[in-house]
Amino acid sequence: MTIGGKSVDAESHFEAVNPATEQVIAQVPDASHEQLETAVAAAKAAFGPWSARPVDERQAMIARIGDAIEENAESFMRLLTLEQGKARAGAEWEVGGSAHWCREIATQELPLHQEDLGEGRSVENRRTPLGVVGAITPWNFPLLLAVWKIAPALAAGNTVVLKPSPYTPLCTLKLGELASEFLPAGVVNVVSGGNELGGWLTRHPDVRKISFTGSTATGRKVMESASGNLKRITLELGGNDPAIVLPDVDPVAIAEKLFWAAFQNSAQFCVSAKRIYIHDAIYDDVSRALVEYAGTVKTGDGSMQGTDLGPIQNRMQFDKLRDLLADARDTGLRFLCGGDVPDGTGYFVPVTIIDNPPEDSRVVKEEAFGPVLPLLRFTDIDDVVARANDTEYGLAASVWSSDIDRAQEIAERIEAGTVWINEIHSFSPHIAFGGHKQSGVGIENAIDGLIEYTNSQTIYTNRAVA
Ligand code: NAD
Repeated sequence: MTIGGKSVDAESHFEAVNPATEQVIAQVPDASHEQLETAVAAAKAAFGPWSARPVDERQAMIARIGDAIEENAESFMRLLTLEQGKARAGAEWEVGGSAHWCREIATQELPLHQEDLGEGRSVENRRTPLGVVGAITPWNFPLLLAVWKIAPALAAGNTVVLKPSPYTPLCTLKLGELASEFLPAGVVNVVSGGNELGGWLTRHPDVRKISFTGSTATGRKVMESASGNLKRITLELGGNDPAIVLPDVDPVAIAEKLFWAAFQNSAQFCVSAKRIYIHDAIYDDVSRALVEYAGTVKTGDGSMQGTDLGPIQNRMQFDKLRDLLADARDTGLRFLCGGDVPDGTGYFVPVTIIDNPPEDSRVVKEEAFGPVLPLLRFTDIDDVVARANDTEYGLAASVWSSDIDRAQEIAERIEAGTVWINEIHSFSPHIAFGGHKQSGVGIENAIDGLIEYTNSQTIYTNRAVA
């Protein structure tokens, strides 16, 4: 772990497991309560000098984190596949994206509003840093999501204590180690441990903000425990994203896009298309083409050449998916492909596509967070919009049509923070991302995301001193 600029071990450890082989790949330090206290104290001590640095110096350091990621890209990619399971293309996307994010966030300027009120009076509204930020990340994109938090937090002048998921701590620990080579001690601290460590961080009175990515259930707990000292919070939570496919698309061409919309990263993606609504006129053609395309995709060990989709990242999620599949089978749902989890080593779940299950079935209502996809028929736009919106979630959605105006009309009626039209999973450091309803609170990325790491301060000045 990196605490106060030093590389430190812990008294106890937990195991990191390669999900493709179930082999233990590392003994990971399990931070004690005292070590968390030391990390927060180090971040608190580093805050004054760090926030006082000129912003361009801070930005240069963030860009340097990006350089360090790029210089170590090959070992990051290997480690990411080893600990997370994802295949090479996914690892390249994540590691390349992480470097890119650092460099781009390092170009963003916080707004400063100044106004002359006349008669010697003026007003200025500026953004000031918060202090120590606690960052907590999940196991699907461990490196990228850590960068999404560290870069804007530091740019705005804060210091950070980061806790990765206990399932995927290795890339994040490595990132902390690399950054400590040039960042002042205490500016970024990385501590590993279980959920209890997350609770210590979210309750800590010296932590001023929590930036959390994870499930909605944990997000609720974070919100509750952050209330002690009224911490600022950004919560990026779960989703059950609908895709709506209109009858004017080419069924075969769209099938490949829909496949990756749903199954990228083995569907362990907050913004995967998790329910695909297909117009009745093309439902049979699209579902057939999807199943055919699925037959060309290889699931396996992400480190093997030719693998497209890796395993499920951990046993807990693997067991949840097996339970979901058992429920689908027990309730008589029709599998178009997949459904049988093979015996053997590794947490492999086959690509599973389910034919038009009832709207209230578990595979439709729940966020599977794995390769189990329901296809649903619709005929009426009002009906499909209502079904798409009938969820506690509101993370993202997609609409697929050759009639862009019609797609736009539908997009505007969807209760979700991001709606893609004829594409999916496009992100940018300069475009806001955040969930509606119980998919989150606040924004990441863009100036809006940067602002979330600040307080607003207004200074009124009267030059006509009495
Ligand atoms: P999770 O909520 O189980 O865990 C996320 C993190 O929270 C982990 O680091 C965990 O140790 C920590 N944690 C657990 N209990 C805690 C507590 N009481 N206090 C503080 N921290 C605690 O989520 P997960 O299973 O790792 O990730 C999958 C979920 O994340 C899915 O629901 C997915 O949709 C969501 N997700 C959302 C986004 C987004 O941007 N909206 C991105 C990726 C993943």
